[in-house]
Amino acid sequence: MNQLIRCINCDKIFMKTSFDQWLECKVESSPSPESFTGIERDDFQDFLKNHHGHQLEDLKIMEDSFVSEKPYSEPVKLSYFKATNGKESFVIKKFRDNIYEPLKYQLLFGDYSLKCIGIEIQSKAIKRQMEMEFKGKPLSPKKIAAFLNLYQHIAEIIDIKSLERISEESSCPMEIYYKMDDLSLMYLLRNCRNIFKGQEYLDIEKFIHNHEEDGVLLLKGTYEIQLTEKTKSKTKALAAPVPLEVEQIIEKKKF
Ligand SMILES: [Zn+2]
Repeated sequence: MNQLIRCINCDKIFMKTSFDQWLECKVESSPSPESFTGIERDDFQDFLKNHHGHQLEDLKIMEDSFVSEKPYSEPVKLSYFKATNGKESFVIKKFRDNIYEPLKYQLLFGDYSLKCIGIEIQSKAIKRQMEMEFKGKPLSPKKIAAFLNLYQHIAEIIDIKSLERISEESSCPMEIYYKMDDLSLMYLLRNCRNIFKGQEYLDIEKFIHNHEEDGVLLLKGTYEIQLTEKTKSKTKALAAPVPLEVEQIIEKKKF
């Protein structure tokens, strides 16, 4: 279990990741550096030394708040998550400069959200699937293109908020797959009647029903992280009194 500690005075963050070591130390509800005992790791000792006399607090990591634009397996990446002290919530930026560097954490004031920047159809996969399934009675390239144009048009006018998300594992966390809604399905089927006739229409209808729930007819939504930072309010900054000598240390460190 990870433990996230914030120095209220400096807004510096320390992520304690070794569960075993944490079993040995007592953390009081309002911890001071002195209450952390039995830890041997140098970097944590350094953190305590650097923030001696400062007010520390535990932050609770908000589950399911992790976002990153790179795949989960990518070791060098920038990601964000949210944490709270029970009164205020913060954005924690997690990053490393290269694979040999330890992870770094930075506290940010503000919030983030995911913004959909586009929704598209899986054109290549649809075309490939159609060519494979209609091998016996191939569809003309013109008809395949007309189908793709029609479906692309639907993707352009669709409201992503009304769509059901399909929980398919995507290697990229910023790509989310959706099933088209019933209205779009009806629109697609109705307009397919203009492209395909007779048995060919019936085959296409079957194709659509076979692939609308999963596979090639899923719509791909692409997202990006939108970070909104705000400056820390003065009243909160003054809430934690800083002893004089500590203030001097902070001043020295700035240069
Ligand atoms: Zn501090």
